[in-house]
Amino acid sequence: MHSADAAIASLPKIHLHCHLEGSLRAETFVELTKRAGISTRYRPGQPDIAGPDDPAEVYRFADFGEFLLTFGAVSRSLAGPDDYARLTREFVADALAQHVVYGELFVSPSVWAFFHPKLDLPATIRLIVQELRAARAYGTEFSLIVDVTRNFGAESAMRTAQIAASLAGEGVIGIGLGGDEARFPPELFTRVYAFARAQGLRTVAHAGEAAGAQSVRDALDHLGAERIGHGIRALEDPAVVAMLRDRRIPLEVCPTSNRLTGVASLDAPQPFIELDAAGVLVAIDADDPALFGTSIAREYAIVAHEAGIDTLKRFILQAVDASFLDDPGKRALRERVGAELGRPFAY
Ligand SMILES: [Zn+2]
Repeated sequence: MHSADAAIASLPKIHLHCHLEGSLRAETFVELTKRAGISTRYRPGQPDIAGPDDPAEVYRFADFGEFLLTFGAVSRSLAGPDDYARLTREFVADALAQHVVYGELFVSPSVWAFFHPKLDLPATIRLIVQELRAARAYGTEFSLIVDVTRNFGAESAMRTAQIAASLAGEGVIGIGLGGDEARFPPELFTRVYAFARAQGLRTVAHAGEAAGAQSVRDALDHLGAERIGHGIRALEDPAVVAMLRDRRIPLEVCPTSNRLTGVASLDAPQPFIELDAAGVLVAIDADDPALFGTSIAREYAIVAHEAGIDTLKRFILQAVDASFLDDPGKRALRERVGAELGRPFAY
């Protein structure tokens, strides 16, 4: 290991934007598809086409649309409770190996139900929560944010939000909005977010990824989202950047994801540099780490390389502040992370 890699490896990591399904190890994905006799590729409404079965090849995609289909293929391979338990155990092992000290994880039960209508969604979420608790022995806590998933429309989203609300206090802390941002804008889900908030759930939304700055504005104005997933296309409108800065809305920026889906240009500087310079609160995340061939440690290494270790440390602390922990929990995490970063903090 290079000394720079060793320095990154030892840093405490906060993961606020990570999809559990998108963390499925490629080897496990291949094994699950073989067992079920299905392809590693998924095309809606079409018979299975042969897909690659080399773990190094299964997570290749050309654009955001193909990425969503890969996410579909992964969700299809997760057929029953045992698969979700295994996915979660492997996730926890991978997170602890990278020294993740706190995480808020997305799950997308409406996608599970699309492929496996008989799956008991609340029971599966409870099982995931139970498996995540294994991390507590190592001082790491994970909570779940239930993604209500745009593609299935507002009624499905409301049903999913009701499931989330029924599990509040059992490891579920909020709702999120992923999926096809370009075709399903935030305002369709205004009632769903109002309901979730009334139920005491925290709210985040993917925006400014597959759609532009207006989508970020709408996620704030219509949904009241407390954090924005990605949000990098806010840079297309200085007024939206100012809105994020002034309202202190953190962005969960996922550098590798944004480049692989084509949202961020390979030639331009990393968007987190410009957002940070504009005073927007940036946290760094890995999104769907397995599908993007990355990890939270690797995303941190990108930031250290592009912006320096001090900026990275600041982003880690911003992630603590952006978390949905209660005040005592946040204070304890600040103290631990601050001590591990070797920086005194004046809060
Ligand atoms: Zn995401």
